Amino acid sequence: MIRAISIIGYGLMLVALSGCATTHGADASAPPQPLTPQAVLAELAAGNKRFATGQARHPHADPARRADVAAHGQHPIAAVVACSDSRVPVELVLDQGIGDLFVIRVAGNVCATDETGSIEYAVEHLQTPLVVVMGHSQCGAVTAVVQHAHEHGNIARLVARIEPAVEQVCHDHPELKEAALLDECIRANVWHGIEDLFMHSPDVAERVEGGTLQIVGAVYDLASGRVTWLGSHPRQAEWLAAALRTGPAPAPHHGSEPQAPAPR
Ligand SMILES: [Zn+2]
Repeated sequence: MIRAISIIGYGLMLVALSGCATTHGADASAPPQPLTPQAVLAELAAGNKRFATGQARHPHADPARRADVAAHGQHPIAAVVACSDSRVPVELVLDQGIGDLFVIRVAGNVCATDETGSIEYAVEHLQTPLVVVMGHSQCGAVTAVVQHAHEHGNIARLVARIEPAVEQVCHDHPELKEAALLDECIRANVWHGIEDLFMHSPDVAERVEGGTLQIVGAVYDLASGRVTWLGSHPRQAEWLAAALRTGPAPAPHHGSEPQAPAPR
């Protein structure tokens, strides 16, 4: 009898925890209401604006939230591929908390096999409606490729994934030098990561095609703290067609692409 009461009491406690909130906000929450990719993007843009202007709320960081997600599982609103650079702490710069973001960090924010598999887990098992591939200013991994640094071992294999983007920018924009060249290469590397994601993951491509998933690029500025949202890949339709084997793979052509407007 005592055991039965204890179980009931534990169940009531879980119900109480799950009833704290039902939407994505400052309180601990049960599984949030399904959000559209557009709504999540707006939330992340608002969070970054708070961070960059010194008005961060640091949501979902208290013991109640920790207990909630430990008991009920994770329901992140977005998956973010970002660089391992210590100056790009993803949850902080987007003003999110525990259980909000499924973050994959790797030097140069490349989308190779392991990163793509992690993204597939997020979108297929956790139903995250948005994937962000986020580069950042002064990225050392991209800089190493631009400056033809002689890396060795596994670093060489990692930066080799960045080389196609840099080569494309150098081909399309031979006039660019130094900081302007690096900035363009950082953006191109974001687009290249998204292309890799499409081409290596038909499941992800199908979800984007079906409208249940959006993949956007972004670049974080170390000095200002602001994220420039690049939007969807300018040639997403072509890459989706290639990924879904309904057309030839488009030739990468990053440099002269128009930049999508940033969400407000
Ligand atoms: Zn970096």
